[in-house]
Amino acid sequence: MILIKDAKQILTLEGAAKKGARHTLDQDLTALTGHAILIEKNKIKWIGPQKEIPKTVFKKIKKEISAKNKVVMPAFTECHTHTVFAGERYTEFEMRNTGVSYQEIAARGGGILSSRKALAATSKADLLKLTQKRVDKFIQQGVATIEIKSGYGLDLENEIKSLEVVKKLKSANFVKTFLGAHAIPKEFGSAKEYLAYLSEFIYPEIKRKKLADRVDIFIEKGFFSVEESRSYLELGKKIGLDIVIHADQLSLSGGTELAVQLGALSADHIIQIQDKEIKNLAQSEVTGVLLPLADLYMKCAYPPARKLIDAGARVAVSTDFNPGSCPSQDVQMTGLLARLEMKMTLAEVIVAYTLGASYALKRQATEGSLEVGKSAQFIFLEDSYAGLFYSSTETCVTHRFFDETLEKLVK
Ligand SMILES: [Zn+2]
Repeated sequence: MILIKDAKQILTLEGAAKKGARHTLDQDLTALTGHAILIEKNKIKWIGPQKEIPKTVFKKIKKEISAKNKVVMPAFTECHTHTVFAGERYTEFEMRNTGVSYQEIAARGGGILSSRKALAATSKADLLKLTQKRVDKFIQQGVATIEIKSGYGLDLENEIKSLEVVKKLKSANFVKTFLGAHAIPKEFGSAKEYLAYLSEFIYPEIKRKKLADRVDIFIEKGFFSVEESRSYLELGKKIGLDIVIHADQLSLSGGTELAVQLGALSADHIIQIQDKEIKNLAQSEVTGVLLPLADLYMKCAYPPARKLIDAGARVAVSTDFNPGSCPSQDVQMTGLLARLEMKMTLAEVIVAYTLGASYALKRQATEGSLEVGKSAQFIFLEDSYAGLFYSSTETCVTHRFFDETLEKLVK
């Protein structure tokens, strides 16, 4: 058994967990002082006042870790990333920055299709090396669970290659998402034709090799429509995949409504949603995933976070790290933008980056808050949690506890 003792404060987020990560108030962070945590086999065995640790337990304690002057809280969860890719898209950034639209870049063979070329030309071993390096960068910021999408392969060989790479990654928990329906490759005449190919050739392989937990699709003008997506996602559900949707990012194209209808885990981006979609999302179990760092890069509007939260929706935040529209992995900056641009309170951002994100990945029963029976995955902060999502160059995250070890993080 491991004892975490002398913490200045422990944020368990128990209050937020009781409310299903909705309507978060400051007190839902459940800040405890004078408390300790007992860990056994990577699970939280006990949390309580340090003075009241049961005597019978003491002799079972194999290791004591001091959290003196530190704040202990759940590790972060990145619930929306495209971390497995090859090649950079520097030129495209300059194009976008000089006024060329995302759709226009795609039409010129840029965007996702240029990442496709780079990925196809990269061996699995090299792709794994590249991806692990990026994963380590998330870990250094206190992230314990990372969702990673395929979607730069766009054919059987390279989609499977991408997902197999995710399966081989180390040092964190990973959620694998099949995003074959990210863009329509040139060799297919229509979205419908391409989705039929994915259904017929890639779904069975994913099922056979257990390569994905979820299926995602980019519902947008010029990409995939709601009607094309519906049957494709339903088929994914039949082979055991959970559903997530890139929804209503560039235009109101119905992705959020479809997510609600299909009982998706999350609707992601949701920038263009209006009152009707906000209400329906808030009344559903679908988590709204907000990606403000991508919105900054895309110079587009931010999602209506305030309206969503006030309507009772559960939200998560994530980087959307990808080579095109968000080549940054900055967790602090993401949270900072959520505060500055989406007017979320600090407590709301903390919950959205932990428990809310765990809900988006269907891991809320084991992660996202520090409660008895849940995984012992947490971080130490220097001084105060008020230092989170405050500076884009400094982080108060000093350590992370994962797999029974405490690692010092880069400062
Ligand atoms: Zn994305």
